[in-house]
Amino acid sequence: MIKRRDTRLVKIGGVKMGGGAPVSIQSMTKVETSDVSAVASQIKRMKSAGCDIVRVAVKTIKDAQAIRYIKRKIKIPLIADIHFDYRLALESIKSGVDKIRINPGNMKKREEIAQVVHAAKKAKIPIRIGVNSGSIFTQYAIRLPAGKAGNTRDVHADIFVKSAIEYAKIFEELDFHDIIISLKASDVSRTVNAYKEISRLCDYPLHLGVTASGPYDLGIVKSSIGIGALLLDGIGDTIRVSLTADPVEEVIAAKRILSSLNLRKFGPEILSCPTCGRCQVNLVEIVKELEDELSDISFQPSAKKNITIAVMGCEVNGPGEAKEADIGIAFGKGSGMLFKKGKVIKKVSVSNAIGELLKLL
Ligand code: SF4
Repeated sequence: MIKRRDTRLVKIGGVKMGGGAPVSIQSMTKVETSDVSAVASQIKRMKSAGCDIVRVAVKTIKDAQAIRYIKRKIKIPLIADIHFDYRLALESIKSGVDKIRINPGNMKKREEIAQVVHAAKKAKIPIRIGVNSGSIFTQYAIRLPAGKAGNTRDVHADIFVKSAIEYAKIFEELDFHDIIISLKASDVSRTVNAYKEISRLCDYPLHLGVTASGPYDLGIVKSSIGIGALLLDGIGDTIRVSLTADPVEEVIAAKRILSSLNLRKFGPEILSCPTCGRCQVNLVEIVKELEDELSDISFQPSAKKNITIAVMGCEVNGPGEAKEADIGIAFGKGSGMLFKKGKVIKKVSVSNAIGELLKLL
């Protein structure tokens, strides 16, 4: 069991964050925010995949005004991602957004920050202080070693943390505490170190992510290591996997990270062997077919969320592993042995294997 860090409870629409609430999954739309139907249809796909909260980029007043219409078409909380112009935050709040993300690196004027904070307080919505290694708040950026200023890959974790804490102080002085913090770098160790450090200094919920993590495969690896390492330490209240890919892929990757750590379950889990020279069936194809079948049932109300299904390629380790799962199959030549709760049920042909496993579910 992972012992989660105690954090302050913050609400984003109907989703709780921190205070022991389940780690939520969020992602961002990747179409023009002012194109209401395109945004709404992308959000519907993301929600069906398991997304809890969605963020849209607000770069114009038109985008901010579109929020009102997007919200009418969706059923999950909406966050406005704001850079540079505080007026976009004010307009998004007016449109009924559920949370604001601002970047301390490009919104530095105290009076502008105060206006956003006052509006958020009045609307009873939280604000995420979203620090990126590419945009650090105040003087810390210029304290980098000579010749390194401006090279964001050299921003140290402690500078990163100080920047967020100093920014949060402005909010606290305005008696605003519905804060979420993120400290994202594209470098995994710097990201992990920064989050570990800030988790010792404040109790605000933390939004985890490795930014600009790269193309799909590399991004999944970097995000899983960075986000996973922190979650294992009990750090993190919401996660976003950033991938240069469809946002649905980000949601699926986030679900896999959470379910691998038993923090949340979304459907039956397949435990399959890697296969080797002993395997005499096409296990890759069999597992893919099973995965496709399960993805159809995972979000049904009756989904067997805590079930484990072992699919093993041979009789060497297969029966042992299959017995440890709730249900399982260990293949031999041309057939497979079905197991349920450690007991052999029957022998089935390879072509009937998936159907028989699904019947056991
Ligand atoms: S279960 Fe059998 S086929 Fe699969 S990896 Fe182990 S020895 Fe190889």
